[in-house]
Amino acid sequence: MGQAQRPAPPGQESFDRSCAYCGARFRVRIAHGPFADHAEEYACPECGKRYETGAAHAPVVELVQPRQDGKTDRYQDTLF
Ligand SMILES: [Zn+2]
Repeated sequence: MGQAQRPAPPGQESFDRSCAYCGARFRVRIAHGPFADHAEEYACPECGKRYETGAAHAPVVELVQPRQDGKTDRYQDTLF
């Protein structure tokens, strides 16, 4: 015992973003290092539209505010 709960370890970062497709807001938590960042994908929790950021591990996404477009469709990915 004795070890107090530690705050988020260094190298952790989070930011909020709005989905360009459906307007939902979500928080993206990413971790850096000890090695160089590389491109990691994350998806909007409401419509599934994919985004990319530089991080050491796959980002964790939390919904902050539901989508604002009143629809329930999924973003159509045309990558393939
Ligand atoms: Zn979305």
